[in-house]
Amino acid sequence: MHRSHRVAGALVGSAVGDALGAPFEFGPPGQFSARFPSPARGSKTEMCGGGSLDWEPGEFTDDTQMALLVASSLVASGGLDPADVFDRFRAWAAAGPPDIGNQTRAVLGSGRPWGVAAAEHFAASGHAAGNGSLMRTTPAAIRFSRDGREATMDAARRLSMLTHGDPSAGEGCAIYHELMRVALDGGDPLAAIPSVLDAVAPEHRERWAVVLADDWQPADATESNGAVWPTLAQAVWALRNGRGFAEVLRLVIDLGGDTDTVACVAGGLAGAVFGMGAIPSRWASVVHGRVPGHGDRVWRVADLQQLAAALDGGVQQNYDPGVIPRIGPAEVLPGIWAANLDGARYSEEDFAVISLCRLGEPFPHELQRMAYIADNEHNADLDVMLADVLDDMAALQAEGHRLLVHCHGGASRTGLVLRGWLVREQGMTVEEATAHVAERWPHLGLWNASFTAALERLERG
Ligand SMILES: [Mg+2]
Repeated sequence: MHRSHRVAGALVGSAVGDALGAPFEFGPPGQFSARFPSPARGSKTEMCGGGSLDWEPGEFTDDTQMALLVASSLVASGGLDPADVFDRFRAWAAAGPPDIGNQTRAVLGSGRPWGVAAAEHFAASGHAAGNGSLMRTTPAAIRFSRDGREATMDAARRLSMLTHGDPSAGEGCAIYHELMRVALDGGDPLAAIPSVLDAVAPEHRERWAVVLADDWQPADATESNGAVWPTLAQAVWALRNGRGFAEVLRLVIDLGGDTDTVACVAGGLAGAVFGMGAIPSRWASVVHGRVPGHGDRVWRVADLQQLAAALDGGVQQNYDPGVIPRIGPAEVLPGIWAANLDGARYSEEDFAVISLCRLGEPFPHELQRMAYIADNEHNADLDVMLADVLDDMAALQAEGHRLLVHCHGGASRTGLVLRGWLVREQGMTVEEATAHVAERWPHLGLWNASFTAALERLERG
């Protein structure tokens, strides 16, 4: 898998976890699976919104808001400038975000300088090992992942110290950074845990070794998951026991308690391990939010992907597909229409749109799923992504929606999905499906051999 899939997966995965867990915050265990015993792929998904703070479906919370503050500082400063991060945190806290941790609020509202505010709060209260610094650290974990173990763990501690004076919280962030570094390099973060523990400050090592052990169970926790140890431990436990991104998040949200934060932490790690393509498109497509005190901008999945690339050393630039002659929509299969990018963008807004390419400006359509499929032979998990798209289409069609499938040119990726639909829903062979689509959609493109190979695997079941 290309590193960029992991980098995007980490940042989007953490925001998705945050938004997915938010409605269940401080609830009892098992709530998520009680409400969603099976995947909810129709117009209403597990991104249900609500909860005590009445989140919008897909809206991320303070975890991701603060992560975006860290990220914007890292990108603007070209590195770690703690005073700048602290200023951004303070402006955000002063703007009255709907959700803010007690400790974070106390430190940021103290009026004390960045270098002493958290330490003074810790000295006075004796309590500062909450998960509030761990929850926001994915951008820094990406940014410093190329600098090696020591540098990334050191950056984690310094960022944690801005609000969390207890070094236990800093060690938790440092472990997370190193697990992320290993995952982004394509390694197995679970296998790396013993060697990561060697890099933990000696006085903290034993306690972390206990909660990150292979046989640790959530029932073994000695604190609520508002504390840093069980938060990271539950995320690692879920990563160990879940077979894919969605299952990791289901496991961890079902533990209850501080579900947005634990899912945010687990989502970051799972996104790095399984990649952007493994995040269900029904979740990634709707994740969004604002950062109070920092303008009206609404952050969406494409913004998070671009930011992740910039944190990993790329250039942050908005994608502009330009203006292309419209093709479609045309009804190619019963109830399923096809188009190219601008054909879909300017289509009737009651279509349920299945987007298979980057978009530039968001569409006005209320129902849109964005899948992370590239028009080349380098898709990491094509079978998983194709199944995700086809499952969503079946659920949306069953609700009576007209479906509109498109990609940039309406040729290869659109053709993959239309052919896949016929193979799976009508039992056609790949050859029959290809001929069937070609007859009705002359724009069909067949240049990706990996697409046809994926369809052949689908045909074999
Ligand atoms: Mg939160």
